[in-house]
Amino acid sequence: MNNKTNYQYLLSDLSSLKGVGTKTKNLLKKKNINNLFDLLWKLPKSYTDRSLSSKIKDLKIGEIQTVTIIPQKYNFPRVRKLPNRVLCSDETGVIDCVFFNSYEGYIKKILPLGREITVSGKIGNYRNKYQITNPKYISEDSALIKQVHNKYSLTEGVSEKIYNKILSQIISNLPDLSEWHSKNIISKFQSISWNKSIKELHKPENIGNYKSNFYQRLAFDEIFSTFLVNSEIRKKIKKFKKKNKILNISKQNSLINNLDFSLTNDQIKSLNEINKDLSSSKKMFRLLQGDVGSGKTIVSLLASINTINSGFQVALMAPTEILARQHYNLAKNIFPKNINIEIISGKSEYKKKKEILKKLEDKQIDIIFGTHAIFQKKVIFKKLGLIIIDEQHKFGVNQRKKLSDKGGVDCDVLLMTATPIPRTLTMTIYGDMDLSIIREKPMSRKPIKTYSKLEAKIEDVLKFINKEIKLNNQIFWVCPLIEESKKLDHSSAVKKFEYLKKKFPNQVCLLHGKTDVEEKNTILENFLKNKFKILVSTTIIEVGIDFPNANVIVIENANKFGLSQLHQLRGRVGRGNNDSTCILMFKSNLSENAKKRIKILKDSNDGFLISEEDMKIRGFGDILGFKQSGIKNFKLADPIHNSDLFLLAEQEIKRIENTKEDISKFKPLIKLYDRADIINDIA
Ligand code: ADP
Ligand code: MG
Repeated sequence: MNNKTNYQYLLSDLSSLKGVGTKTKNLLKKKNINNLFDLLWKLPKSYTDRSLSSKIKDLKIGEIQTVTIIPQKYNFPRVRKLPNRVLCSDETGVIDCVFFNSYEGYIKKILPLGREITVSGKIGNYRNKYQITNPKYISEDSALIKQVHNKYSLTEGVSEKIYNKILSQIISNLPDLSEWHSKNIISKFQSISWNKSIKELHKPENIGNYKSNFYQRLAFDEIFSTFLVNSEIRKKIKKFKKKNKILNISKQNSLINNLDFSLTNDQIKSLNEINKDLSSSKKMFRLLQGDVGSGKTIVSLLASINTINSGFQVALMAPTEILARQHYNLAKNIFPKNINIEIISGKSEYKKKKEILKKLEDKQIDIIFGTHAIFQKKVIFKKLGLIIIDEQHKFGVNQRKKLSDKGGVDCDVLLMTATPIPRTLTMTIYGDMDLSIIREKPMSRKPIKTYSKLEAKIEDVLKFINKEIKLNNQIFWVCPLIEESKKLDHSSAVKKFEYLKKKFPNQVCLLHGKTDVEEKNTILENFLKNKFKILVSTTIIEVGIDFPNANVIVIENANKFGLSQLHQLRGRVGRGNNDSTCILMFKSNLSENAKKRIKILKDSNDGFLISEEDMKIRGFGDILGFKQSGIKNFKLADPIHNSDLFLLAEQEIKRIENTKEDISKFKPLIKLYDRADIINDIA
C-alpha cells in the first residue's frame, strides 16, 4: 500500500511498517498510537548529529562521535562479569567495542572481522585506550549511521533507532494530498502544502519553530477540521423537520410578571433566542452558557412552560438529586397549578416510580425532573418536546449527539453550563451547538468581597466567621486540594472538621469524597435548612445548588487552584441578598506572580474574563478539568497562541456554510484528523 496520493496509507496499521513487530505495536498502542498518522505527531524533541566521522586518533573522549573501523580480534572472556570486547582499528589507531550482556553470535554478526563498519556512540577511555560501550548505531552501511538522528520522548521499550527508522519510512512514503483549503486560506501560509509542512515539521532544525508557515498551516488544519466536524453535526441536526411549537407569549409574560425580580437583559435575550428555536421547524440544539448565579434556571423554566403550553412534555436532567429537587421546587413554586410536575428520585418507591412511568406515557405529566435516570430506556414519553440538561459541561460531542437523537424528531435540546470558558475553547468544544450567553449578573447581586489571608492568621478568620454566624449566616469551608493523594485530601478535611467543631460546637458538618450519596444528600439538605452553620468539605460541593443563606466561603491553600476554579467555588456564595465574602487562605507569603493572579479575582466577578486570564497563565487543558474530560486534545494548535487561527477557521466555516460549498474535498482531512469518527458518510 503505497499510493502516493491516498490518505489511506496513513490510516494503515503500524505492522505495515518495516521494523514494527507485535511487541513494538503493542507498546505504541498503549500510547494511543494506532496507525501511521498518529506517529506523525510524535515530533523530535532534539537531535544528535552523527553525520561527521573522525579518525580514531582525533576522537574526543566523552563526546558522541562517528568512526569507521575494521574489527580485528574478538576477546570473549569466559568469566561472567567481564564484558565481551572487539578490538577494532583504522589506519590511525585502535579502539575497543565493548559489550555487556550481548551474545557472541550477535557481536560476530554486527562486527564481522576484516569488514569496514561504521559505529557511532559516546567515546570512552579504559586503561588509556579508546572504547565505545554497547554501541547502538552500528552498520556496514555508513550512510545509515552518518545522519542527524532525531531524539523523541520515547515510549518505553521502543528505541530511538526504531523510532527514527519507522518515522523515516512514513515520511518518505508520505502521500501528496491534493490541497483542501481555498486559495485565500492557503495563501495565508504561503501556499505551503500539507505534505511539505509535515516534512518540514520533522526536520531537526525546525524543532520548536512554532511561527513558521508549515507549523501554522498544520495547526490550522487541526482547528479547521474540528470546526468542520462541528458544523456538519449542526447541519445534520438542523436537517430534521420538526413540529414547531406555538408559543403563548402572554402566558409566559404573566409568569415573568409574577417573579419577585425582573429578568436581566441577557436572560431576556437568551429566552428570545430559545423561543425562536422552539417555534421554528428546525430542531433546537443550543447551549445556554452563563456564570454561576447568572440565572439560567429561570430561563430554562420559561422555555419549559412555553413548550408545555404548546402541548408537549419536558424533561429536565440535573447532575445530582439535590439539584433536580431544587429545580423541581422552583417549578412547583412558579408554574400555574394546572401544570403537572413530577420528580423521579432514586429514593422514590418502586410503586411510585411505576406510577410516574405510566403517567409519562399517558401524558399526565407535563414536566419531569431527575438525574440521568430520566433517560433510561424504560422511560417513555408520549410527546416529549424539550430536553434540558443542566450543568453538563463534561458531555463530549458524541454524548451530545446521542442526546439530540434520543428525544425523537420533535424534541428540542437545551444544555446549560456554568463554566465560562474562553471564546476559542467555546468554538472548539461547543461548536456543534448554537450558543446563548448570559454574561450579565442580576442587578441585585452584590459583588463578593474577596480577601487573601495567611494561614497563620486563622484566628482573624474565626473571629469573622463568629460574627457572621451571630447574624445567622452560613459558611462554606473548602479544604486544601492535595493533588497527589485523595487520601490526604480526605484526612485534611476531617482534621479541619475536628478543629472547627471544637471552636463551634454542634454547628459544623463535614462532606468529603468518601461520604456516600445518601448521607451526602442528607448533609446538604440539613445545611440548606440551616441546621448547621459551617460546612467543611473538599471541593466536591456541586456547582448549581442554590444556598441563599450561605454568604462566606473560606478556601484553604488557595494557590493550589486555578483562577476559574476559585471563581467557581466563590460563586457558591452571594446568591442571597446579604453581603458575601470569599477568603482565600495561603500557607506563605504570595509571590509577585501569585499576587497578580489573585488581583484578577479580587477585581473582577466576570467568569469569562477570569477564564481568559486563567488560560493565559495555566494553559487551556487545566481550565476546570477539560483535560480530564478528553474533549479535545490538539496536537499542535494552541488556543492561546493561535487564537488568530481559531478566528480564521471560524470565518472560513461560516463562509463554507453560507455558500453551501461542497465539502467532499475535505474528506481526507476529516478522515485523518477526526478521531471521534463522527462523520462517516461525508462525500
Ligand atoms: P445559575 O445560572 O448558576 O443556574 P440560578 O438559575 O440558580 O443560577 O440562579 C441563581 C439565583 O438567582 C436564584 O436564586 C434565582 O432565583 C436568582 N435569579 C435569577 N434571575 C434573577 C434576576 N434576574 N434577578 C435577581 N435574581 C435572579
Ligand atoms: Mg444552575
